[in-house]
Amino acid sequence: MKNTHFQLYSNCLLVKGHQRSLIMDLQREISELIPGSMYEVLQLLNASVPLSDVYVQYGEENSETITEYLEYIREKEFGHFCDSFDTKHLPSFDTVYETPEKINNAIIELNKDNLLSFENYLFQLEEVRCKYLTIFFTEITASTDVFSILQLTSRTSLISVELIMPYPGEGLPEMIREMDHSGNKLISLTLHNCPDNTAEVLPAPLNYTLVCLERAITGFGHCGVVKSENFSTNQQKVVESLNHNSCLYKKIAINTNGEIKNCPAMSKVLGNVSTTTIKAVIEVPEATALWDIRKDDITVCKDCEFRHICTDCRAFTEDPEDRFSKPLKCGYDPYTTGWADWSENPLKRKAIQHYGLSV
Ligand code: SF4
Ligand code: SF4
Repeated sequence: MKNTHFQLYSNCLLVKGHQRSLIMDLQREISELIPGSMYEVLQLLNASVPLSDVYVQYGEENSETITEYLEYIREKEFGHFCDSFDTKHLPSFDTVYETPEKINNAIIELNKDNLLSFENYLFQLEEVRCKYLTIFFTEITASTDVFSILQLTSRTSLISVELIMPYPGEGLPEMIREMDHSGNKLISLTLHNCPDNTAEVLPAPLNYTLVCLERAITGFGHCGVVKSENFSTNQQKVVESLNHNSCLYKKIAINTNGEIKNCPAMSKVLGNVSTTTIKAVIEVPEATALWDIRKDDITVCKDCEFRHICTDCRAFTEDPEDRFSKPLKCGYDPYTTGWADWSENPLKRKAIQHYGLSV
């Protein structure tokens, strides 16, 4: 084999940013920033242009840089030298995203007013083959009610259940231990408004993830903050992002009034479970209108190298009237590659007031 060509491995996808670009390795689930100029070179090579032609195109003055960079990419195992036969026969990565379920994930807000409706919600989620459920208890709920809810979910085709609830006070160690058996689908419990050092006095290890937060979570107004530590090169999430909205695709939420929404933080109500069903609601185009807004379509994000490892937010945007506006709670600027505190940006003040956010 002659090393006449160079290609990224098919599981390594390039994302072009305004200043710099990103290689996403969907097999190892890691990402690496690369200079914008190398994006152009790698694009040419990936399109089967021979190395010799690329060197000619960029001139002798850039030869050493290109050689060093390709060697770096090879050492990092993002790409390999090959010949023209390989470039024609190595299969490319399949980025089609198709899932059979009508709803993938749901968020249900519960309190004493709608606790008895939970079984009905669950029935409706079964009808649309929902896979992942998050339950947000808006107030302290008796442990017996929480156990009943977990028991109901164990009889469904849900894959996992996550619970978010306020610190319940006395009886917590027993409650935590009771939840810790293989008969339920609980994968995570987040307790908020906890006293100092709560986790230290709780039983461990558990077969679900336990998070204890001192701050109180009063609703989904806190949601949608973009942080680099939350970027994820998860293969399924990246492919979803290439095709659909990375937060809202096949997501549904029900609040304590039984109102169906795209997410709990949205003001738009799509229907109410007392008069309609989730299955019926998602047949209406306005219910799914946000599902296909990709990062590639969003102002500013479309020029950001992180766009397919970053989650989108359509509930809080810089311009509330523009459905393609950048997420409000992002402080990254792909035109300068700088991060700033989004909440202190004077240009965002109007939107912060519009949503009534306390920052
Ligand atoms: S749209 Fe925004 S607020 Fe709603 S769930 Fe997604 S990130 Fe959170
Ligand atoms: S600009 Fe857009 S894609 Fe980039 S980090 Fe911010 S929200 Fe994510």
